Amino acid sequence: MTEPTLRAALPDYRWEGVERRPYKAEGSAPFRDIARAVLFDDPALACQLRYFEMAAGGYSTFERHQHAHAVMILRGHGRCLVGRRVFAVKPHDLIAVPAMAWHQFRAAAGEAMGFLCMVNADRDRPQLPSPEELAALRADPVVRAFLDG
Ligand code: MN
Repeated sequence: MTEPTLRAALPDYRWEGVERRPYKAEGSAPFRDIARAVLFDDPALACQLRYFEMAAGGYSTFERHQHAHAVMILRGHGRCLVGRRVFAVKPHDLIAVPAMAWHQFRAAAGEAMGFLCMVNADRDRPQLPSPEELAALRADPVVRAFLDG
């Protein structure tokens, strides 16, 4: 994207010239009803701005990694787990996901939830919890209640 560019907003959280794709599995990464669109990707800025959308009741992969995220909710409501904190989120809330914090986003049952996510263009692969890590995380009642929906 080296030319001046307008990605005009279209109805239903779509943008001109931007493809929305079902989120692809990396290995056996568990997620449900989530789609991704890359809105911005410019080597000069070394970051990407993506839009993710989960259908009602959908959720993102429960993961962690060295790279950080800045997330802004654009539509819908839901909850997110970041580290051992659970936040209820609504449009225009900003969530910072620090390096190596376990995180997951979950849309509320009745409506889709979409968010912008800014991320390094060059980034490490997400890690999934090992069975031992998952057991340790689930020992925290707040985390367990979140993961069990
Ligand atoms: Mn992530």
